[in-house]
Amino acid sequence: MSDDPIKRDGLRDRFWEKVPLKNLAPKEWEALCDGCGKCCLNKLEDPDTGEVAFTRVACRLLDNETCRCGQYDIRLQFVPECVHLTPQNISKVAYWMPSTCAYRLVYEGKPLYDWHPLISGTAQTVHDAGQSVRGWTVPEFEVPEEEWEDHIIEDL
Ligand code: SF4
Ligand code: SF4
Repeated sequence: MSDDPIKRDGLRDRFWEKVPLKNLAPKEWEALCDGCGKCCLNKLEDPDTGEVAFTRVACRLLDNETCRCGQYDIRLQFVPECVHLTPQNISKVAYWMPSTCAYRLVYEGKPLYDWHPLISGTAQTVHDAGQSVRGWTVPEFEVPEEEWEDHIIEDL
C-alpha cells in the first residue's frame, strides 16, 4: 500500500464491522478515512431547513491533486473553523459529512464501499471510482463567498 499516505497495516480484521467507533484504536480511527477530500469542500447550510449543500470551492489548504490537507498539523492556525472529527463529536457532525464518508457510513450502520482502501487494499481505487475531489475543485481564494452557490454540487 505504498501509494496510501494513511497507514492501514496491523489493524484488526474488518474492525469497522465489529468494534464500536468509540472503542477503535487511534490507528484504526485514522485508517477509516478514505482520503477522498470531500469534507474539505466548503458547504452552504440553509438556516431554515438545516439542509447542507457542498460546493466545489475547496478550503485554502486542500491540495487538489493529493486530496490532502497541505498543513494538517498546523491547520488550525490558518483555518480555525476546521473540524477535528472524533468518536465524541461524530453524532453532531455526521449529518453534514458527505454521504460516502466512511465515518458517516459506519456511524449510520452502513457498509463501506468496495472502493474504500480498507476493502480494496489501495488508495487509488478512491480516485478511480470518481469518489475523490482530485482535479475538480476550485480554491476558495478564487471565488468570493457570495458566489459559492454557483458552485453547488448536487450529489456528493
Ligand atoms: S469525507 Fe470522510 S472519508 Fe473522506 S476525507 Fe473526509 S473524513 Fe475522510
Ligand atoms: S484545514 Fe485542512 S483538514 Fe481542515 S478543511 Fe482545510 S484542507 Fe481540510
